[in-house]
Amino acid sequence: MKKMDAYDYTSTRRKLRISAKDALLQGLSEEGGLFVTDALDTLSLPLEDMLDMSYPQIAQQVMQLLLPGYTKEEIAWCIERAYGSSFSDPRIAPVIHRKDLHVLELFHGPTCAFKDLGLQMLPQLMSIAAKNRHKKVMILTATSGDTGKAALEGFKDAKDISITVFYPKDGVSSIQEKQMTATEGNNTCVCALKGNFDDAQSGVKTLFADEAMKQELAKEEILLSSANSINIGRLIPQVVYYVSAYVQMVNDHQIAFGDKIDFCVPSGNFGNVLAGYYAKCMGLPVRRFFVASNANRVLCDFLSSGVYERNRDFYKTISPSMDILISSNLERLLYYKSGKNSVYVAELMEELAQKGSYAIDQRLLEKIREDIIGGYCKDAECIQAMKECYERYGYVIDPHTAVGYHVMKQHEKESTIPCILVSTASPYKFSEDVVKALFHEECADAFAAMELLQEKSGIAIPEGLRALKEKKIRHKDVITREEMKQYVLDKRRELMK
Ligand SMILES: *Cc1c(COP(=O)(O)O)cnc(C)c1O
Repeated sequence: MKKMDAYDYTSTRRKLRISAKDALLQGLSEEGGLFVTDALDTLSLPLEDMLDMSYPQIAQQVMQLLLPGYTKEEIAWCIERAYGSSFSDPRIAPVIHRKDLHVLELFHGPTCAFKDLGLQMLPQLMSIAAKNRHKKVMILTATSGDTGKAALEGFKDAKDISITVFYPKDGVSSIQEKQMTATEGNNTCVCALKGNFDDAQSGVKTLFADEAMKQELAKEEILLSSANSINIGRLIPQVVYYVSAYVQMVNDHQIAFGDKIDFCVPSGNFGNVLAGYYAKCMGLPVRRFFVASNANRVLCDFLSSGVYERNRDFYKTISPSMDILISSNLERLLYYKSGKNSVYVAELMEELAQKGSYAIDQRLLEKIREDIIGGYCKDAECIQAMKECYERYGYVIDPHTAVGYHVMKQHEKESTIPCILVSTASPYKFSEDVVKALFHEECADAFAAMELLQEKSGIAIPEGLRALKEKKIRHKDVITREEMKQYVLDKRRELMK
């Protein structure tokens, strides 16, 4: 096995050499490419040794392989802070079995959705990288809801880092707003913006492009950064739960060691399933991944035709965290599957920027389809899937997981290989839709729906969501786009102590 050296990260669009720590701090390469390691297919997981390891121990092994340049002690420190006490299940990401149904539950973190697995880790990795370079980091993010809260929880009280989240005043649900504005921690800031999500997003982009502001912050050794899902610091911790899920399948006597399995992954930005593909490249016995899309089926269409077409209608669905037309992380898969051809990837991405679409050649599509196949699910089918899963297995799933369930069942007829359904959110997070689908009941608000769901399902409401009702609102600022720059400059004194 070849060990990666400390500068073994490069960009998907240009050959370069950068350390994992710098890749993590930068987030995105200057020309717009994503950071990747060329050593991926030379790494190999010590899988047999992992059979009696805990989640943190497996994480240690996986992250050491993928993050050279971090010492073992640094990685151990990060794991302790990320997964030491913030998850409600000691297994972190348990696999549950109901008859022939196997579900990887990724919702036991502080915000009850899978983004916690990456966003509890990213801040730890970032604060070590920043400390080594004697810098402080100011994270700025625009959010349409869920990512904002997961980022706030992850960065809360992180060392030498602050986080500021902007959200559209009238563009998030009341639960989401309360989740964010009740956030604790001395380094957190949440601010409502007059306008919609695009205003918030483009406002933040303008700040990142403001050289004068960057220079002013640089005088105080402050770097601006984002908590974007394309950061390797979010992607790499996600590889761990695929490995841990396999180990659990063996230890629970569902498969024999070495047997292949499938995974079905509800997808949007393609980060989750890409992490699974990384695990496969490192030797995890996986036959195939099913990528499940909702009505915004851009990935599913790409995987069947080889044409990526973002010029299409956008649908608001009941699985909102997957309402996406640009799946950024797909770029990494194209890089690896094209034989690490950065010139080719740069051309495709240029076409996407110019025309809103690109087409890959058929040989490349076939190679991708050896590992990854798509499917999709409309809202009506999603509601049906929640109901069927409950009636058949007595197991309650949220609308995102239900999209995966529907796609998995479509493929199951022709397969004898066990498939793990990746569950990306707690049903309690979307309790109103779940209660409507399962029991045809309308509730006064989300809290009433949670109570009803608890009563019917016998599964306790997650503490983080239950406690929300009584929580004090700590962040009340509302500003306009024009005021954002001054707001950030003013806030830095208070946040970067
Ligand atoms: C973000 C999210 C997804 C999509 O994951 P990607 O990594 O963007 O493909 C699916 N389900 C839920 C609940 C999410 O929050």
